Amino acid sequence: MAKGEYEKLLKKIQDKISENKKDTGSRFELPPVDIMWQGNRTFFRNFADFPKLLRRDPEKVLQYLSKEFASPVQVAGDKAVFVGKKDPHDFTMLLTRYVKEYLECPTCKSPDTRVEKSNRLTFLVCEACGAKSSLKGPYA
Ligand SMILES: [Zn+2]
Repeated sequence: MAKGEYEKLLKKIQDKISENKKDTGSRFELPPVDIMWQGNRTFFRNFADFPKLLRRDPEKVLQYLSKEFASPVQVAGDKAVFVGKKDPHDFTMLLTRYVKEYLECPTCKSPDTRVEKSNRLTFLVCEACGAKSSLKGPYA
């Protein structure tokens, strides 16, 4: 392989590495929500994917959405069914907010955190920097 070629390849690899690094930064990429309307109800068809991805209790995530929408919700399989017609953008907005409030480490902004409960206190433990911070909201 010619020297120029080799350097080009090396550069490519380095770019790829820094790209990957960027991906693990503070911005958490949420998958698109899959919303379907039927009558006066909104079906959040891929609901189950989100708690899995966020590594949070599905029940809590559901309660959070229900409270923010001020609307009752029930689960049917992997779907969450809301009363009323909800805008898909609102789901994305609320889930993004949930990530900010219940996932992001206040110290390093990493979303790689887990919830720890002891006594009646809830803590957010960061797997990136190790910081432990108290979590005040009820939907962790
Ligand atoms: Zn951290």
